[in-house]
Amino acid sequence: MRLKKIVIAIDGYSACGKSSTAKQVAKILGYKYIDTGAMYRAVTLYFLDHYISLTNPKEVSKALDDIKIQFHLNAEKQSETFLNGLNVEKEIRKMRISDNVSQVSTLKQVREAMVAQQRKMGKEKGVVMDGRDIGTVVFPDAELKVFMTADMNIRAYRRQQELLANDKLVDLEEVIENLIMRDRIDTTRAESPLKKADDAHEIDTSFITLEEQVEEVVRLAISRMVSE
Ligand code: C5P
Repeated sequence: MRLKKIVIAIDGYSACGKSSTAKQVAKILGYKYIDTGAMYRAVTLYFLDHYISLTNPKEVSKALDDIKIQFHLNAEKQSETFLNGLNVEKEIRKMRISDNVSQVSTLKQVREAMVAQQRKMGKEKGVVMDGRDIGTVVFPDAELKVFMTADMNIRAYRRQQELLANDKLVDLEEVIENLIMRDRIDTTRAESPLKKADDAHEIDTSFITLEEQVEEVVRLAISRMVSE
């Protein structure tokens, strides 16, 4: 039996397990994994480091022309983010980026540039892409759309553990504040706000394991690969 290559769009709130799930699903299916949040984070890093004014469209446009984002696999076959040739995987996960990324992501110019790149990366299909607007804007015809949610305290604890592994211990209150702020900006912005696509399959990851999340997405993916 020949399995058709599909696009798998995984959207949802921050720290619900989207990227951990997407990475594993891509590995199991032999698909490419694209972390679109990392792209917005890399743009934010560049804007902060170059003092780009978000209210100056000319400056933003010039900066976007100067930004090149790539993903490369490391020795452990994990995808890492490169900004203009430099590995920024660790830097973009830090709180200073989390504190600014949602504001940067509201800009129409930024979204247009990222969406164009994301469509290019996924045009051959065989891709798992995670973000906020993948099933609604980037690939509205994706064969499989998943929308992830989870309880706020669980999300905050998971994000705190990730920060601890990558950077430093951040107070749980600070993590919760950041998640609430990003949820608010991401769901209320004018340009492609975060929302569940009508045809997305919702998974609440609060009380299920990563293995269970992965299994469910792989099962759904295979059903689409056979029937599409
Ligand atoms: O997925 P992650 O939490 O790393 O994303 C960081 C931020 O990037 C989100 O809070 C959101 O503001 C923005 N983002 C977006 N659209 C996407 C992916 C991320 O606006 N497709």
